[in-house]
Amino acid sequence: MAKVIQQRDKCIGCGTCVAVCPAFWHMGDDGKSVLKDAKDAGGNKFELEIVDLGCNKEAATSCPVQVIMVE
Ligand code: SF4
Repeated sequence: MAKVIQQRDKCIGCGTCVAVCPAFWHMGDDGKSVLKDAKDAGGNKFELEIVDLGCNKEAATSCPVQVIMVE
């Protein structure tokens, strides 16, 4: 399994992750991006376990403030 993690409080709402990976990301009403179906892991971290990272690698590498991690 792979994991995608977003440190959501540090998101600046640029929309890049949504643009490069719309299958997994959308913009929230508060102007920050949302990782679809992610679990609240506490500490403003949101985590999603998936089999295939897919476009999340691109989302992680293109986030200008590096708040998306993949492992
Ligand atoms: S690319 Fe990074 S800063 Fe931009 S919306 Fe996505 S998580 Fe937020």
